[in-house]
Amino acid sequence: MDRPLLGEVDVAIIGGGPAGSSCGLTLRTYKPTYRVALIESSTYNATRLGENVSSALLPLLSYLEIKEHLFSQTTYRECFAVKAYWGNNTPLLQHSLRHWMGESYLLDRQYFDVMLAETFCGRGGKLYLSCRVEAILPLEDKNVGYLLQLRHRSGKQFALSARFLVDATGRKANIARKLGAISTRYDSLIGVSRFFSANSATSWSQDIIIESAPEGWWYSAPLPENRLVVTLMTDAKLWREQRQDDNLGYWELLLKQAPNSYTRIRQAALTADTKLTLRLAHTHVLNEAIGKNWLSVGDAAVSFDPLSSLGIGFSMHSGCHAARAIVSNLESREIDSLCHYNDSIKKQFTEYLPIWQRYYRYENRYSYSPFWKTRHEQP
Ligand SMILES: Cc1cc2nc3c(=O)[nH]c(=O)nc-3n(C[C@H](O)[C@H](O)[C@H](O)COP(=O)(O)OP(=O)(O)OC[C@H]3O[C@@H](n4cnc5c(N)ncnc54)[C@H](O)[C@@H]3O)c2cc1C
Repeated sequence: MDRPLLGEVDVAIIGGGPAGSSCGLTLRTYKPTYRVALIESSTYNATRLGENVSSALLPLLSYLEIKEHLFSQTTYRECFAVKAYWGNNTPLLQHSLRHWMGESYLLDRQYFDVMLAETFCGRGGKLYLSCRVEAILPLEDKNVGYLLQLRHRSGKQFALSARFLVDATGRKANIARKLGAISTRYDSLIGVSRFFSANSATSWSQDIIIESAPEGWWYSAPLPENRLVVTLMTDAKLWREQRQDDNLGYWELLLKQAPNSYTRIRQAALTADTKLTLRLAHTHVLNEAIGKNWLSVGDAAVSFDPLSSLGIGFSMHSGCHAARAIVSNLESREIDSLCHYNDSIKKQFTEYLPIWQRYYRYENRYSYSPFWKTRHEQP
């Protein structure tokens, strides 16, 4: 059955995370004649993980003309040091004072992602929430581009036509893979997180703590509004095999065995969420981040280990770069701008890979455990 055509746009972006919204914002800000749709499968209600960004975020926000009050003290926390128990039990302390970029920020991710998407709407972009792409049909006549068949969570079906598609669906790269791209995964890392809250009188260190453990590594960071996120980074298979029936109990047991992370929780008067949040965190890269009238941005194109804290900044930067490449491609029908975009994505991944592998090799205490063995054996 034919679906009603709800609109014709120049660019349809699928996925409203930092990458998709930044791409949409760049298009609406610097090419306001373009009709741009942002299609997001959620309502932004689910927990979003990943919060540490360097101060390189500020020039990006300024490029996107995000007003200062939208990125205010209540929506982030400054972070001045990272304490890493990695390789031995003496903390390696990296002070932001010694870092050329200065302090970093810990974001309220849900607020941040919603703020970007709302700003995109405020600039005349069209946001479709709770919608999923069911099929992508190429338009081969004079309307070169794609017809997207969409379904709203209510069951309502409709279609949108677009001259250009952007895959911003995150690590699963749903759209690029549908269009024929191949994703190479380098590991099966997942993040299993729990959020803690404290009353305002409680004070704890503003540092990020990273601590390796036999089953992976722990990450804990203070968030705005006296919250703290504690995440176990481990392999999906290990988590599935070991957790038994009691996820939370198993997670707590492992945390107690990570002394530096556990002490942080014990010292503060905290209430804890009763459920864990699990997210994919693997490293992957697409064979090509571009194709005929499409490209991918952010985690969909290439995703980095959260250890690198590269994800959000890279995603936003790639969204902005992609928008420029799309405009140039649509205006001139030349492929050069897309190729240049593709090359820059591949270059960043090539530079990242050996550094990432070196970091894991630096931790030798748990070489007997499957998590570390897999990483040490990588070519
Ligand atoms: C545990 C963990 C910790 C992390 N810590 C950090 C950190 O400290 N610092 C850092 O910089 N990065 C961190 N990251 C990485 C960071 O979160 C990502 O790099 C960043 O979110 C990528 O942005 P994105 O827009 O590309 O993808 P995402 O943020 O994943 O956004 C994708 C969007 O697409 C939507 N979507 C998915 N599929 C569809 C579909 N089929 N149709 C429509 N919409 C769809 C999703 O709902 C989502 O809104 C962490 C990641 C994890 C998992």
